Amino acid sequence: MSLYFIFTIDGDWDKYFCPKLSASERQPDKKTLLALISHEIKIASSINNKLLHFVHSSSIASNFFLQPEFISIWKNIETKGGSVGIHCHNEHFYHDCDRHNEEKIEKSIGSLTKVLREKGIAPISYRGGYLAFCNKDIVFLEKNGLFFDFSCDPDRFLWLDNKLVSNWRGAPDNYYRMSYEDHRKPGKAKVIEIPLGKTKSGELCSETTSLWGIWKTARALLIKEKEQKNNVIVYVLSHTYEFSSFWKRIKIKLVLLICKKFGKFINDREALVIINEAERKQ
Ligand SMILES: [Zn+2]
Repeated sequence: MSLYFIFTIDGDWDKYFCPKLSASERQPDKKTLLALISHEIKIASSINNKLLHFVHSSSIASNFFLQPEFISIWKNIETKGGSVGIHCHNEHFYHDCDRHNEEKIEKSIGSLTKVLREKGIAPISYRGGYLAFCNKDIVFLEKNGLFFDFSCDPDRFLWLDNKLVSNWRGAPDNYYRMSYEDHRKPGKAKVIEIPLGKTKSGELCSETTSLWGIWKTARALLIKEKEQKNNVIVYVLSHTYEFSSFWKRIKIKLVLLICKKFGKFINDREALVIINEAERKQ
């Protein structure tokens, strides 16, 4: 049994998260985003190009990342051994997690997946905007051939405007097939949840966790894997906007280097093979 990491990058840019800006001011800049994503690819070369980039879609930038220049990059990521997933924000700012609007969520998951597939990309992974998720999303993912969700940050929850927009309280801290009744519980769905690498020592988040915290977390995950004698598969969290500064890029490189000391980086397709194999042996 082994400890596996999936290096995930949310394709969000900094101005997307500035509520004071107008919709036009929050638009991404093509040249900047192309440069940032090329840094992602360069840095992932240290882990055999096993990055999982989540393509952002929202009303601010619904087709922005489907322009030919970006499609070439997504193909390049897959060719090199990485993966491309889908990441749906549904606007308005911090309100996209309105779980009553399931029709909108289903449409955004379906249309982004369809367009990427038509362009020759093969996404099998999803992440909700603001890590939001609800039970009904499981069926939307299955319909679209998305076998993985990467929205789980165990025990995290987010209240906004008196609404619980993201709720992962009580979720397992290792991968699991989801329950159709409760996305935070193991069950019989085809969709597998991969949670953020998280222990009492910290979490594998390049933006907010110190390198010492990353080291302690990765080490604790390895100890857990040895004790449980099960595969442990978790994700490392990063964002496209973090690749904007030299020092942040150095930090991300070091995060990957530390994790590599304790486990192995794989892509989502490899994770599916490993999980299916483990289930067959049970
Ligand atoms: Zn996002």
